[in-house]
Amino acid sequence: MARYTGPVCRLCRREKMKLFLKGAKCDTMRCPIEKKPYPPGVHGRGRIRESEYMFQLREKQKARRIYGLLERQFRNLYQRAAREKGITGETLLCMLEQRVDNVVFRAGFASSRNQARQWVRHGHVLVNGKRVTISSFMVRKGDVVEMAPKARNMIVLRHNLDTIDRLVPMWLEAVTAEAKVTVRDLPLRDQIDVPVREQLIVELYSK
Ligand code: SF4
Repeated sequence: MARYTGPVCRLCRREKMKLFLKGAKCDTMRCPIEKKPYPPGVHGRGRIRESEYMFQLREKQKARRIYGLLERQFRNLYQRAAREKGITGETLLCMLEQRVDNVVFRAGFASSRNQARQWVRHGHVLVNGKRVTISSFMVRKGDVVEMAPKARNMIVLRHNLDTIDRLVPMWLEAVTAEAKVTVRDLPLRDQIDVPVREQLIVELYSK
């Protein structure tokens, strides 16, 4: 599956906010946003002409970058969300949250969604006892997501479990000692703490 391989901190600087894409570095003074809180490039500090389209585009890019999707993957998911009943923007965010890489991240096993995605790709994650290697796999209510027995001994996982102090959302129930998380329920919009105004994404794609 294709993924973005360019400089990651540049993405945060473009959105002029921390997107927490790099794990531990994000909480330190080494985070480039601390020193350069303006967009990258020679015109980064220049005057930006604001428009409705610009705000819509920036919200979409922000959501896409937080969850680590490429444009086509994101648009496909949007189209899926648009076919579902309910409010499209909220459905889209809920679908993004249900991705298995996001669940591994939310449970506090991985320091970033990128790390979680790599573990899924490498076969370190089981869903209901079966190996899942597709990071876009969407969990359902009652699913049990856990690290594979061999992966539980990974130093990086042990380190994360000892040091990450992330609030696990209500829709998940994590047993940290066993590196296991159960999906209690599907996420609701007010349980998703990403700084995204999803309505603007809907407006962008509805043009
Ligand atoms: Fe973003 Fe983290 Fe890089 Fe800071 S360190 S710019 S929050 S990815």
